[in-house]
Amino acid sequence: MRTIAAAPAGSRTYDLNFARWVYQNVDGGDRLSLCMQCGMCSGSCPIGTAMDHGPRKLFMMIRAGMKEAVLTSDTIWNCTQCYNCVVRCPRQIPVTNILQGLATVAVREGYAPEQPTAKFAKAFWFSVKHFGRTDERLVTAFFYFSFGLVEGIKRGLANLPIALRMIKAGRMHLGAPHRAKGAADLRAIIAKAEEIEKRERAQGAQQ
Ligand code: SF4
Ligand code: SF4
Repeated sequence: MRTIAAAPAGSRTYDLNFARWVYQNVDGGDRLSLCMQCGMCSGSCPIGTAMDHGPRKLFMMIRAGMKEAVLTSDTIWNCTQCYNCVVRCPRQIPVTNILQGLATVAVREGYAPEQPTAKFAKAFWFSVKHFGRTDERLVTAFFYFSFGLVEGIKRGLANLPIALRMIKAGRMHLGAPHRAKGAADLRAIIAKAEEIEKRERAQGAQQ
């Protein structure tokens, strides 16, 4: 995947390269030019009120080159991937995929350091990558402490009663995280995928 060309100094808010970059590099982004701004996606979104911009407006902002506003928007993080917008879009635009793609870019480019969803995704990925499965204690601890030591302790203590009830009910075990069978093979697959992605990104940057 290519990296976004840097905006000229002083024009970070409106980066006209951004729309072209999204068209070419974000999954489904090539269909964005077909968006007719009808608003069906935003009108169909069950959690539109929890987003700072609905998908329709976000797509307009991409066209306007508002890179920073798009990549710091909570729309890309609050999308629950229900696909309501996708099935109703009269232009068959893969709205959900585009929002996911933008979230990936936002993390990679450092626009989402405090986004809880991004922090949780990192914690989830850490557990899967190292153990081949999600260990609820590891994911929870990684997530809580990503907000800082004091906040991590505070959140941990607040949820201690729940953890104790889960242990009592046999829903959470004590001791080291269990490794999935074939976890080493999974790690080798992930390492290969990361190597390919890195190579493709380096090639894209040279073009
Ligand atoms: S429903 Fe489709 S065409 Fe209409 S605004 Fe949303 S993405 Fe654009
Ligand atoms: S997939 Fe996301 S943007 Fe589309 S309707 Fe569902 S929550 Fe809203």
